[in-house]
Amino acid sequence: MNKPTLAVIVPCFNEELCVKTTVETLLSLLDNLIKNGKIRKDSYLYLVDDGSKDRTWEIIETLHNKDKRVKAARFIRNFGNQKALIAGLEGARDLGCDCAVSIDADLQQDENAIELFIDEFMKGADIVSGIRNDRKTDTFFKKITAMMFYKTMNILGAKIPPNHSDYRLVSRKVLDIMQLYPEKYLFLRGFFNEVGLKNSFVHFDVKPRMAGESKFNFVSLMVLALNGITSYSVVPLRFVAVLGFFMALFGFLVGVETVIEKIFWHNSPNGWATTIILLCVFGGIQLFCLGLIGEYVGQVYREVKARPRYVKDIELK
Ligand code: UDP
Ligand code: MG
Repeated sequence: MNKPTLAVIVPCFNEELCVKTTVETLLSLLDNLIKNGKIRKDSYLYLVDDGSKDRTWEIIETLHNKDKRVKAARFIRNFGNQKALIAGLEGARDLGCDCAVSIDADLQQDENAIELFIDEFMKGADIVSGIRNDRKTDTFFKKITAMMFYKTMNILGAKIPPNHSDYRLVSRKVLDIMQLYPEKYLFLRGFFNEVGLKNSFVHFDVKPRMAGESKFNFVSLMVLALNGITSYSVVPLRFVAVLGFFMALFGFLVGVETVIEKIFWHNSPNGWATTIILLCVFGGIQLFCLGLIGEYVGQVYREVKARPRYVKDIELK
């Protein structure tokens, strides 16, 4: 295979403190890879400004004027990290590339692993997923919730590799296939896993954030996780039906038992406590199940409106 043209995609949201250093680091990485004969000279960076409110876009423009290998698009408002990544992948596909790597603007992922990604790509992998060696830089809470998420996803049948953030290389073929998936709330980690092409893995070290603060909080991570689950598994809906069946069976058996007791032992039913407890438990389970169904209805509702995934304001090519 010939040397590939590489596009490095960087989603940026309020990253004025990081973006300059990141671009400089990545450009010198490109230079090194070119020097070592790993990639073609026309490789480039593609930054997606996800509606930043700070000086991020100004800095990107300056960097673009200095070096045209810094290409970028700016969203009209904040659409979220997944949309920025998708826009980056679609933008790189339009500009032309043989493979694309996505990496965070704070360079928490070790950028030197990109060379290993390319090696795997040259060996024939269409998707190379970066797997973090450990979660040293994460809080205890994030470690636990992330572990729960991957476990749940696996139980539910969407087998995404654990400890894989959106740091990966995908081939041109994958970008083409992505165009066949029109869903607006595409969950990238699920998509890349189920697409059916050769996947390989590269381990890398996570660094602390270079500067600024994490753009994710508990709520945004929960939203991401829920979207991942509802767009890649219908097992929770089936679980609701099974749970309902067993609850009905339980109710029926308790009923039978009460009647038998009444007829043969002339016992009146035991006190109110049991009634209230059962009422609360079942009421709770019913509400939970309704909420679960609501999540899917919400997913259908959002997709059916077919609003654009994102809207670009300006593009620097
Ligand atoms: N990001 C984005 N849009 C958002 C939130 C985050 O494009 O609405 C970008 C952010 O600029 C960074 C990447 O997504 O490049 C990961 O964000 P961050 O490093 O804050 O997340 P963490 O590493 O703490 O999970
Ligand atoms: Mg980060």
